[in-house]
Amino acid sequence: MTVPGRSTGRIILFPLPLQGHVSPMLQLAQLLRSRGFAVTVVHSTFNPPNPSNYPDLEFHSIPCGFHDSEIASADLILRMNLLITRCEGPFTTFLEESLRNGPLTCLVTDSWYIFAQEVANKLGVTRLVLRTGSATSLSLFADFPLLFEKGYYPIQGSRLEEEIIEFPPLKVKDLPAIGSQGLDEIPVMVGGMVSNSRNSSGVIINTFDDIESESLSKLREQLRIPVFPIGPFHKCFPASSSSLLTADGGCISWLDGKPPQSVIYISFGSIAAVTDEQIQEIALGLASSNCFFLWVIREGGSGWLDQLPAEFLPVLEQRGKIVNWAPQQEVLVHPAVGAFWTHNGWNSTLESLCEGVPMICMPFFTDQTVNARYVTNVWKVGVHLENKIERGNIEMAIKQLFKDHEGKQMRDRVTELKEKAASCLQQGGSSHESLNELVDYFSSLNHSTFSES
Ligand code: UDP
Repeated sequence: MTVPGRSTGRIILFPLPLQGHVSPMLQLAQLLRSRGFAVTVVHSTFNPPNPSNYPDLEFHSIPCGFHDSEIASADLILRMNLLITRCEGPFTTFLEESLRNGPLTCLVTDSWYIFAQEVANKLGVTRLVLRTGSATSLSLFADFPLLFEKGYYPIQGSRLEEEIIEFPPLKVKDLPAIGSQGLDEIPVMVGGMVSNSRNSSGVIINTFDDIESESLSKLREQLRIPVFPIGPFHKCFPASSSSLLTADGGCISWLDGKPPQSVIYISFGSIAAVTDEQIQEIALGLASSNCFFLWVIREGGSGWLDQLPAEFLPVLEQRGKIVNWAPQQEVLVHPAVGAFWTHNGWNSTLESLCEGVPMICMPFFTDQTVNARYVTNVWKVGVHLENKIERGNIEMAIKQLFKDHEGKQMRDRVTELKEKAASCLQQGGSSHESLNELVDYFSSLNHSTFSES
């Protein structure tokens, strides 16, 4: 399909094969296609998207470069490393081939592909990066050297509550760290991601001005390259078609039978894992909350059933539903849903803001802690479960959102953000304008062609 009077040119997109990265890249692909560009998505054989959901896009698969057993046994950092580094050779070969087949306008890769700028430079290709997290967390990552210099890293247990004066309202405990690691590996990966973004020709971010204008200004100063905040993507193209797991559609008919704003939706995304003890406390907290609940427990099979306290089972039958994977965006727009208990992955956070659903924040790692702090202290649309995940705290947080005056104020504020999210995509809105600038920018680029080096 070519849209008459629209831009022409060919763009290659290369997502990181994780749910929170694949969805926004495919949404960007559809956005660019709708503006007339021919779009090829090159993807790894690990977690491949389903091309049949995207008849207007071209797909090309490259080997992931590792065995399933290698990735299954890897911790998060190692897994990221495998995903990032092992595809360098196959990707370079693909890009060379692709240039032989015709001129290329531009390459857009996930920001974590830290080898991609060098490959693009070598082949004379213009590269932009897609940042699938927030502008704030990228700005924080860009300030990592400063955070080390000022002694915030390595994180000291005694300073957790201290506010980071260079980054209000973040506290030391909000700094990205992963479990017991995070001191040696993270700065290296983050440093590579930031310098590769800085050396690229621009950063596309799935965010919008109204929620991150200060961070966007700061980021522009830090990176000194064009920054295009053109989100929220999912309001233009839903992510259901890019889901890597099969969603249980039964939750929508279950929600249909519930009163407005009576259900709490609970999901911790595609990576974070809750412990058995946390599952027990969540169950008991939900039992005493008296709310309806829709709970995503990702671990398949019926293993989770055994971990639930016996006294919870009648509550589940009366007031709850547990599924392995939900059609999250459909759930969040459903009128019965009154709150989202989330790990604050950026996609989930953005989806909740855009549907006007207040949050209970339970971040696990990386940028989730930063997003959670913004939800509670900047946008003031959620309650932070900062203390132990314990039934009493959970019951209190749910009550705060559903019953207290404070909860009502949060609901009002998030409704305002929902309206802003919708209007930024309209003609004249900030994201709409930024997308126009991005399209003009692509259209101004000289096309790259293959040349023997
Ligand atoms: N998601 C979903 N069903 C679920 C849980 C999550 O469709 O049951 C989607 C959600 O809508 C979001 C993505 O998976 O688009 C998760 O991305 P996020 O950045 O929130 O977290 P991550 O999985 O990367 O930790």
